[in-house]
Amino acid sequence: MILSKRFLGDVGTEFDGVSLKYSSLLIIFLLGIPHIPVVIGDDYSPVFNGEEALQYIYDQCDFGPRPPGSENLSDCRSYIVDKLELNGWEVILQNFTYQETLCSNILARWGPEVNSTMILGAHYDTRPKADNDPNPANHNLPVLGANDGASGVAVLLELAKVLPEAVRSYVELVFFDAEDSGNIDGWDWIQGSRYFVSQLSADRIDSIAAMVLLDMVGDANLRIPKEQNSMQFPSLQNTIWSIAHEFGYDSIFLNETGGRITDDHIPFLDADIPAVDLIHYPFPSTWHTIEDTPDKCSAASLQAVGRVVEVFVVDYLPDVSDFPQETPLDFLVILIAIPLVIVSYFIIRRQQ
Ligand SMILES: [Zn+2]
Repeated sequence: MILSKRFLGDVGTEFDGVSLKYSSLLIIFLLGIPHIPVVIGDDYSPVFNGEEALQYIYDQCDFGPRPPGSENLSDCRSYIVDKLELNGWEVILQNFTYQETLCSNILARWGPEVNSTMILGAHYDTRPKADNDPNPANHNLPVLGANDGASGVAVLLELAKVLPEAVRSYVELVFFDAEDSGNIDGWDWIQGSRYFVSQLSADRIDSIAAMVLLDMVGDANLRIPKEQNSMQFPSLQNTIWSIAHEFGYDSIFLNETGGRITDDHIPFLDADIPAVDLIHYPFPSTWHTIEDTPDKCSAASLQAVGRVVEVFVVDYLPDVSDFPQETPLDFLVILIAIPLVIVSYFIIRRQQ
């Protein structure tokens, strides 16, 4: 209001009560318009292949259950590293010890420089105990983690293969260890991501424009509502949902509020890095049971999620200034409002 009044005063026009009232109403109306939806360019066609990603789930499950510190997880780690290096990524193992267990995050970069503006993440460990299994006799058996573990990794591995090389240096792929052992033998959740973020410098934190987390994205009846902690950065979340809508994936990316999940995006949010968790919710019936097996997953679900993330990366990199933030959009609305107020003022004045 102050801005428009001063502006009209500067151009030397008279100001009366009637036009002020109309101007005020107009500005209130314009500022009340919901944020303009993101327009997706149709110049890039995603090539993410769901069948390939599904094979990566089967491959990981062939190692058996993969809890932190296990030989199975170590073998699976070598498999992930091989796949990444085969596609030209430079891989670093970030080792840390938690509860006397040697753990290791896998970091994949395009070239030795760490200058990526976007982090794509997933956990690759699986839960040591199926303590949500309907049969209590199974509670001490390990989870195979086809969906809870392998599915997010599978999407990242397929992206590592299909992302255009022109955008790869702007992306860091991070596979977290020690995510899924919370409340077992004194363990807490999300230890790999906590360690990863603890090792970032302040400059590095400032340079990260977005973190996208993939967790439980393979179920044949996939449903991903908007995770609540991710709503701290609504423009990031809304951008991804807009892309999903453009591709007709409304039955997977649901326009509804999901749960408030403790997941690997939390340490990033705590560091004020825009982060979004793409996670099935309510959790599927196979969650933390011995039924979390590859046959419950589908190529179609993996492909939907993979293609949305692929387009998100390509459309918003390398020029991350394209990424719609809250404040510039508000400024845009104000910029549109000012000329409209001036025009309406003169129209009203002319009519009197
Ligand atoms: Zn889990």
